[in-house]
Amino acid sequence: MPTALAIAAHPDDIEFCMAGTLLRMAGCGWEIHYCNLSSGNLGSATIPGTRLATIRRRESQAAARALGAVWHPPIARDLEIFYNDDLLRRVAALVRRVQPRVILTHSPQDYMEDHMNTSRLAVTAAFARGMPNYRTRPAVRHHSGDVTVYHALPHGLHDGLGQRIEAGFYVETTEVHARKRTALACHTSQKEWLDHSQGMDSYLVAMDTFSAEVGSLSGRFVHAEGWRRHSHLGFCGPTDDPIREVLEPGETVRLHPATDAQKQAPARRAPKRSAPCT
Ligand SMILES: [Zn+2]
Repeated sequence: MPTALAIAAHPDDIEFCMAGTLLRMAGCGWEIHYCNLSSGNLGSATIPGTRLATIRRRESQAAARALGAVWHPPIARDLEIFYNDDLLRRVAALVRRVQPRVILTHSPQDYMEDHMNTSRLAVTAAFARGMPNYRTRPAVRHHSGDVTVYHALPHGLHDGLGQRIEAGFYVETTEVHARKRTALACHTSQKEWLDHSQGMDSYLVAMDTFSAEVGSLSGRFVHAEGWRRHSHLGFCGPTDDPIREVLEPGETVRLHPATDAQKQAPARRAPKRSAPCT
């Protein structure tokens, strides 16, 4: 069974900008995996970090269950996701264990460093998957399968210098939006914190608003997630684009071909499926 692995920085990041696409892939028979690198220990003004990390671990496990995803434990703390040797070896071990055909991760340009460092770690870990001399932590044997890396849109749709980031293509998430919302609502500690500081259900409303804004940008969908494909060099074939190949043509739309690494890649269809995606 083909596998998609989402690697994000914090508990709830996947639900904000990646879960809809994961659910669409799962609907097409893919196994989906869920990993936030950080424990989320700084995500409260009132709960001590160690206790909060335990709470958020349970919340992210519940969210992964709600999505039907395989959960993987965090390996760092908030504001401690660095592009360093130890974390790279740990993320590379995850990639080798899961052997994903698709990796979803943050935008290389985003509003904060944890997101950008997560993106770099995910990319290099994928690059190192087939290098026999690279030792992961814990040790996991290399493998040579293709992997295609996709970057989500940044929080706020801009980089840290205010530059707009355009998606290469959009995936419709309208049908799975309710499930995405259910998964996000599992992060109760965040909901309570933001309800208190910013108003009732601001947490869920923020995701609704972001998702609808991206849907509007697609020019076609009510709710959507936007993606840019990483360069194929060192990862997969030049025209590989598994997300767009597995979903029906009407479920994705491509507006800005110059913004990702597949300028020459035509929309290619995968072999016919035996059953429609859900
Ligand atoms: Zn985050």
